[in-house]
Amino acid sequence: MIGRVTLLGAGPGNPELLTLLGKRRLKEADVVLYDRLINPSLLALVPAQAERIDVGKLPNFHKVKQSAINQLLVDYAQNGKQVVRLKAGDPYVFGRGGEEGQFLREHGVTFDVVPGLTSAITGLAAVGIPITHRDYASSFHVITGHRQADGRQLDWENIAHQEGTLVFLMGMAALTDICQSLMSHGRQVTTPVAIVQWATQWRQRLVTGTLKDIDARAHEQQIGSPAIIVVGEVVQLAAILQPTLSLQGVHVLLPYTVNSQLYPALQDRGATVDFYERSTVSRIPVKLPDWTHYQELFICDGLAYRELLKEMVNKGQDQRQLAHLHVTAKNPTVAKRLQRQGILADEVSDTPMVAEGSLAIGEKGHLARSSCGGLATYELIAKNSELPWQLEEFQAIIFPSSASVQDFMMGVSREQRQQMAQCKLIAMGKQVEQALRQAGIEQVVIQATTIDDVLTKLERQVTHE
Ligand code: SAH
Repeated sequence: MIGRVTLLGAGPGNPELLTLLGKRRLKEADVVLYDRLINPSLLALVPAQAERIDVGKLPNFHKVKQSAINQLLVDYAQNGKQVVRLKAGDPYVFGRGGEEGQFLREHGVTFDVVPGLTSAITGLAAVGIPITHRDYASSFHVITGHRQADGRQLDWENIAHQEGTLVFLMGMAALTDICQSLMSHGRQVTTPVAIVQWATQWRQRLVTGTLKDIDARAHEQQIGSPAIIVVGEVVQLAAILQPTLSLQGVHVLLPYTVNSQLYPALQDRGATVDFYERSTVSRIPVKLPDWTHYQELFICDGLAYRELLKEMVNKGQDQRQLAHLHVTAKNPTVAKRLQRQGILADEVSDTPMVAEGSLAIGEKGHLARSSCGGLATYELIAKNSELPWQLEEFQAIIFPSSASVQDFMMGVSREQRQQMAQCKLIAMGKQVEQALRQAGIEQVVIQATTIDDVLTKLERQVTHE
């Protein structure tokens, strides 16, 4: 297979602000090289077997040199890999994407560019500042605040006399100079200025002021990089257009894709939702038993039954072979899942109904832990050996199912377990709460049954803090 590099823009941070093509490219990737500002949630979209390389640069500490990154891109592509170079915002806006493209072209490597939403525009919108407005600004200018190593100066005379909105990226270290230069070249000291830090992410912050006082305000409120500096009359609009949502600034951790309705419901209320990766399901090609030896099928989870059916069909059997069996679902959720698969459980019980002649089916690890034996029809394989998060940064971790607890526990370190003490844990249902207890979690767990219930309880927790 011919290798290819995609220079991919991840947008400003919120994972839903990735383009559809960007999402597809992540799903197709063999290797992903990502930057410091990348939201780790996006890596949940990458296939389990793909290689992930953190080439992130800290402001004064170049982790991987640009020349080394360029070479890695070429080497992987020449080895036939689908390579994604994942960058914050848009790859061609102060992202060195152009340089990488030149290098790839020189080395004859096929590449494409998937644009991303640049923080220079979306970072403003996130706090209610439209970059242009008929009454206030008819152009905008995106400028680097990072001083050139060779001492070259920006053309301040020109910049200060622009009518439009000025947006400085990478400018926090030079904030004093930027304001001074604009004022000394004729910009009014009362010109509104905003600083937006961590735009579209849970720790998003906004500080506003004027050219004269923004420096002191930023210092006072300890706002730092990464941030965008916005200079111009449009800044005033933040007072009117700033989003006001009930879960704004609330940071929630969810298992990826486990509950497709929960995610948008949280996002729509302004919460920032990050994901931990689900483990992958691997079917076990079991030897099917002689069904006539059994009287009861004890089903530990819906997936176990689905995998069993697939295996049966592969071996020339179908559900009719099971018609004589009494079906016991381990809990109401399992019963509901079975219903969707066309089976009405005879019983809901956490233990088998008959002493002998009962066959339990479930996940391999689960059956081993519960020591009830039985037929393991699938196995969960941890996708990622660790969770890429500081868990104290989350207000809440939501567990929609017992399986999600299992996935979470597979990746959590001892240190992260301590960090969890600061988070609210929300279990959807009694069984899930029990699964948390069984996993050794002792802190208070909030129980919620429906999505609305989760939202209400979360809102209550946040307003009480
Ligand atoms: N290619 C990126 C910019 C890379 S330069 C883009 O299009 O957005 C890095 C600078 O971008 C940071 O120093 C900061 O000024 C800005 N930046 C990127 N993401 C940001 C975010 N979420 N919030 C605030 N500033 C951000």
